[in-house]
Amino acid sequence: MRKLEERIMKDGLVLPGNILKVDRFINHMIDPVLFEDLANEFYEKFKDKKINKILTIEVSGIAIAYACGIRFNCPVVFAKKTSSKTLGDNCYRTEVFSFTKNRSYEVMVSKEYLNEKDHVLLIDDFLANGKALEGLIDICSQANATVEGIGILIEKVFQKGGENLRRQGYTIESLARIKGFTDDSVIFEDLF
Ligand code: 5GP
Repeated sequence: MRKLEERIMKDGLVLPGNILKVDRFINHMIDPVLFEDLANEFYEKFKDKKINKILTIEVSGIAIAYACGIRFNCPVVFAKKTSSKTLGDNCYRTEVFSFTKNRSYEVMVSKEYLNEKDHVLLIDDFLANGKALEGLIDICSQANATVEGIGILIEKVFQKGGENLRRQGYTIESLARIKGFTDDSVIFEDLF
């Protein structure tokens, strides 16, 4: 998506270790007008699917998932990384390895908010090795919910998460596809 690629070129910062910092418009400060456009784009790509719920993972997936929730007119659930008294024990749980933090953590979704009647669109900001999405897919499978598709803002196609998940049959739509980095710039796979 041209608008997102242009914004990455303008405001993204390449960090060591194949990390793209997008704190100026996605991960710290958020551009709500851009997010509305991004949600519209996901809607165009998935409007023919029977989606009644959006699932993401805290924290960085929540904002774009919320924008999509408005566009798809459905609830948004986010997998939580910390337990609390309000969450209780009646949860689906799975282990996720974090690419950016280089450690594993557990995520949880209350059984109250996901079940076999759900047709789910998974949403996240980045797709790298695919561990976050594998965790969400595992949670959907525990709930017997159907994964209708996956919407990603930025896919780093040189990491193999997207390829593996597509091979398993999942439909993934990424709005910007990065095939590599130089020291200070981004190389897109198919620049508009
Ligand atoms: P994966 O599980 O696919 O390896 O990594 C996806 C998760 O790691 C995303 O939820 C995102 O929060 C984080 N992530 C992966 N790569 C990047 C990156 O280059 N920049 C930022 N800001 N986050 C990333």
